[in-house]
Amino acid sequence: MEKPDGNHGFTHAEISYGAFCISQEEARQGKHSGRDAHWFAAIERLARKRTKGAGPKTCYMCDSPPTSVEHVPPKCFFPEKKDLPDGVDYRQNLFTVPSCDVHNTEKSKHDTYVLALVAAYFANNQQAKDHYGTKILRALKKSTGFAHCVLTGSEKVTFGGEETKALKVDTPRFLQELQHMAKALYFQHFGTRCPHPVQVHTPMLHDENKQPREDIKALFKMVRPVIDDAQAYGDNSAIFHYRLAALPGTAMTLIKMTFYQGAEVLAICSPGLMEE
Ligand SMILES: [Zn+2]
Repeated sequence: MEKPDGNHGFTHAEISYGAFCISQEEARQGKHSGRDAHWFAAIERLARKRTKGAGPKTCYMCDSPPTSVEHVPPKCFFPEKKDLPDGVDYRQNLFTVPSCDVHNTEKSKHDTYVLALVAAYFANNQQAKDHYGTKILRALKKSTGFAHCVLTGSEKVTFGGEETKALKVDTPRFLQELQHMAKALYFQHFGTRCPHPVQVHTPMLHDENKQPREDIKALFKMVRPVIDDAQAYGDNSAIFHYRLAALPGTAMTLIKMTFYQGAEVLAICSPGLMEE
């Protein structure tokens, strides 16, 4: 694990990446104030972002002024205290980003759909199962439209010797929402929008034979040594945490999101990528 750099508590990787972003922003404006200036500006930006109320002046997705605050991941991912037998409050210090009306409304339409898929992942912890049995079940019962949307096309499958259910996923919609989530995390982490395209990959999505995809397994195996040693962020790690690593010598950033200690999503932010 990387030690925090100096007494401000930010890691060398965080500052180095922030400095890189600032140098890129300056380059676009035809400026170059120098490495040291970039470094100090990056520390300042991280510190500013940490101070409540002094955040960025735009929406996390566009240049519009923010009109609301959006939780990332959405608040509905975090079980309410009353719904869990352990009585723990998992809604402590959630991550938020400023958002304009358009992007907030657009996203909240998909929140419960994505939650219903993510929380259903077989490798999740007990908290996910309890969350499913309470809040998500209530939502499914309340709206036949929603239940239809989540459950239509689901099939019984045998996986790892056990019989379970495979949900039919609207893959483009699911991946797009996960990609927005990664962009929001990037924004709340660095205080600036990701300057590069973002691709997301997850072992939650299986192939047409309902089996794990070999290419995704290989990708996760490849990045684990880098990303699993990086610092974890998130005060409710039983529900959600993320790790972030900048690949030295490249402009690539990896963000790994982990839900309910089981469902993993890898976001790759890099120049030259195609967004789905
Ligand atoms: Zn916006």
